Amino acid sequence: MLANKLVYQFRDDLHTLPGPYLTGNKSRKFKYLLKHLPDKVDTIVSHGGVQSNAMVALAALGMATKTSVVYYCKKPGRWLTTNPSGNYHRALSLGIELRYLKNDEYSEKFPTTPMLQPILDPPEEAGRSLWVPQGGAMKEAQEGCYDLADDIYNSVQEGVPTTVVIPAGTGTTSLFLHRRILDLCKAGDKDIKVFPVACVAGREDLERQMRALSSATWSGETGEEQLPKILDPFIPFASVDKRILSAWREAKEAGMYLDLVYGAVAVHTVTQCWKKSDILNGRQVMFVNTGGLEGVASMMNRYKHAGMVEDGELY
Ligand SMILES: *Cc1c(COP(=O)(O)O)cnc(C)c1O
Repeated sequence: MLANKLVYQFRDDLHTLPGPYLTGNKSRKFKYLLKHLPDKVDTIVSHGGVQSNAMVALAALGMATKTSVVYYCKKPGRWLTTNPSGNYHRALSLGIELRYLKNDEYSEKFPTTPMLQPILDPPEEAGRSLWVPQGGAMKEAQEGCYDLADDIYNSVQEGVPTTVVIPAGTGTTSLFLHRRILDLCKAGDKDIKVFPVACVAGREDLERQMRALSSATWSGETGEEQLPKILDPFIPFASVDKRILSAWREAKEAGMYLDLVYGAVAVHTVTQCWKKSDILNGRQVMFVNTGGLEGVASMMNRYKHAGMVEDGELY
């Protein structure tokens, strides 16, 4: 029960691939690559945030497939490099090779997201390196996300109109989930909608990213693919924010153990929607717990430093 309403939780945090750190959302998106990485590929190349979940999952993928992973990111602060922690530490311990760029070099190399086309550097022999756009925003993520859609579809009760709320970063998971659920609902008789919550970029930017990925991967009938409807409000990514903290606590009370950069933000958004609009009214809400739970401890440290969490609070 969340704000006196019954919410179903879809525990995708429990979904794993063999190997460490391939859990939750990224275990869906990288499933295809783990199974089908071409033999001749010896390097995976990607880019993104220096504490991102995708970075750790790629490092784990590299470890599991004995492939090197080269990852471009902005040079982290001195504190982190002298006290490696969180995902930065995990990725390094899995053997990732980080290539630091200055802020302007980074924006020059990666002017937009998603960068679906491979960057030309490193110029290894053709076919030897595999380009993974930031956050795994690629066609290859579709297979694992379709599995997620099948699992969700099967877990929804017949005759109960359901809205699936899922936290989104690049929107890759949401887009493919939405695409597959539409097809399943057309063929079957369930009524399910997918609503992503914009956690990393704002609504317009998320929509733009989904549209780019959609047109690069859409092979459906004529016309443009309908994108899922994005829920507001947006709170800047990975903020230390009392609204997020109280949503996190409320979810925990309700039996949903979430991360603080995706899950808790999405729960906050759900409760705001109930209060301020009727967009979720009249339908059962199924909340997707996308995982990322190994990040809770380091976010909690930031909340402690901000004086918002007491030392005694359990998490
Ligand atoms: C990466 C991630 C997401 C966002 O997935 P997108 O496909 O980029 O929208 C959501 N939740 C968690 C825990 C993640 O690690």
